[in-house]
Amino acid sequence: MQTDFLVIGSGVAGLTFALDTRNYGRVAVITKKESNETNTNYAQGGIAAAISPADSIESHIKDTLLTGEGLCNPDAVKLMATEAPQVIEELSKLGVGFTKSRGAKFDLGREGGHSARRIVHTKDATGEAIETTLIKRAQERGVDLFENWLAVDLILKDGRCVGVRVFDTHENKVLPFFAKSVLIATGGIGSIYLHTTNPRIATGDGIAMAYRAGTPIANMEFVQFHPTSFYGKKIDGRALLLSEAVRGEGGVLKTKDGNAFMEKYDSRKELAPRDIVARAIHSELKKRGDNYVLLDITGLGSRKILDKFPNIYNACLNFSIDPIKEPIPVVPAAHYTCGGIVVDIDGKTNIPGLYATGESACTGVHGANRLASNSLLESIIFAHRAAKTAIGDSKIRISKIERLEKNLQSSNLESFNSLEKEPCKEDVISDYLLKIRELMWEQVGIVRNDKELKEAKDKILKYKSEIEKIYETHKISFQLIELRNAVTTASLVIECALKRKESRGLHFNIDYSEKDELHYKKDIVLKKLDKRIKLN
Ligand SMILES: Cc1cc2nc3c(=O)[nH]c(=O)nc-3n(C[C@H](O)[C@H](O)[C@H](O)COP(=O)(O)OP(=O)(O)OC[C@H]3O[C@@H](n4cnc5c(N)ncnc54)[C@H](O)[C@@H]3O)c2cc1C
Repeated sequence: MQTDFLVIGSGVAGLTFALDTRNYGRVAVITKKESNETNTNYAQGGIAAAISPADSIESHIKDTLLTGEGLCNPDAVKLMATEAPQVIEELSKLGVGFTKSRGAKFDLGREGGHSARRIVHTKDATGEAIETTLIKRAQERGVDLFENWLAVDLILKDGRCVGVRVFDTHENKVLPFFAKSVLIATGGIGSIYLHTTNPRIATGDGIAMAYRAGTPIANMEFVQFHPTSFYGKKIDGRALLLSEAVRGEGGVLKTKDGNAFMEKYDSRKELAPRDIVARAIHSELKKRGDNYVLLDITGLGSRKILDKFPNIYNACLNFSIDPIKEPIPVVPAAHYTCGGIVVDIDGKTNIPGLYATGESACTGVHGANRLASNSLLESIIFAHRAAKTAIGDSKIRISKIERLEKNLQSSNLESFNSLEKEPCKEDVISDYLLKIRELMWEQVGIVRNDKELKEAKDKILKYKSEIEKIYETHKISFQLIELRNAVTTASLVIECALKRKESRGLHFNIDYSEKDELHYKKDIVLKKLDKRIKLN
């Protein structure tokens, strides 16, 4: 298997890169499930862009920097906010039908941390509109889409990334897939937590793969917990998100006995940034011993609810709650990762030929906390830049890749595809995954402390060495590859969290409840030290 540009991931980041590079060579996108099973597809609120006359690029920059609490890369933020209006035009041209309003081109929503109405959306299903459109355009333009193909590890030769080992689930076999340029666009890590708004694909595969290959990984402690996901019921393991836009339109958070509580925590009340709202809910739950709080949107009236949030309304009805008549039970859930594979503003990693973008990358846009609706935007803008760089960089000649294939094919794949190895029992794998997810939720969650983080580290390193052993001695499978990545990703989150001895943005440690500007106004960066993938 050989192509010019190999993209791992079919979300907004991967597809944007694929569309840009298509005119410059063959492009293959591999994706571990169906093409649309991505975080992108479930995005509700929308994309931030300062396009209202009452708004400004400067204000978008200021809000982003403020939310990022001193750790944003100001150049990346400026670039993103400046190019945001163009992104909206570009998506509209591709065919994304954004919601319009009377007298204005777009209906602009309001979300926490934004000082103006600037969220361009397609009602409450913006991600689906984007994902569907991009898949359609990619198919029309001849991008090769490989569904149910799981990237296992990067192939490096003489310090350059020359391809990826992929697990073809149709054949149950690992194959090499060679390329001039490889893009990691594998999305987030939500699925390493027990409660998450992310679909199951979000096990941090690309981050783990890059780490194993020697790419620095930064700021994994900054996991965003969305304050409001539906309590109690899940859809294929994914908690239903109640978009921030719902609070933007007037939804009120209340305790079970009906008392609004946000004003005790922040003068912006329900529109404070997500970390503040999530911690406020966490604190109320702890104090009162409750399992959930209520999100009351009955005050919005049926017309507004049905017009602006039809999907949320129907999903709640399926869970036997009618949001027009009664408040919705909600809890926080792991939602977004600000950290990831370290890249420059052109999407380059430290390995020639390897690029990363989207949620798996750390461009520095979000710093210690992500401002709502900045991530679809970030994914698109930096995918464009990565594509431009990859097109320029792709000077390596195909004939060289062919020679590589001959060298590498037989030598590295025999042990993966060995017929002598037994498969690992599925319940062993699912038990480990559950243990990891529970551990992350209970000890590496919204409010952390050193004792629990240290315990979590000991446990995760034990699981990690056991899982590596299983990986080496058993027949490779989809679930085993994911488990190996999940445990690596979890260990990276814990290690970063332990190294940051302060509280900032999304990382809150009660042992150091203040910000320490002197020692920690910096990124926490992890690098693999040796072949056995020990942490720093
Ligand atoms: C419920 C929800 C609501 C959100 N709402 C908003 C919002 O309103 N606005 C906003 O800006 N952001 C929102 N976000 C965040 C945003 O959707 C994501 O950050 C963004 O879509 C990430 O895009 P991506 O392309 O990086 O990754 P994804 O869209 O997650 O795509 C990742 C792709 O990688 C593939 N993949 C992963 N591992 C492998 C592997 N080993 N081999 C092959 N393929 C692999 C997956 O199958 C998938 O195709 C929301 C997220 C969620 C979960």
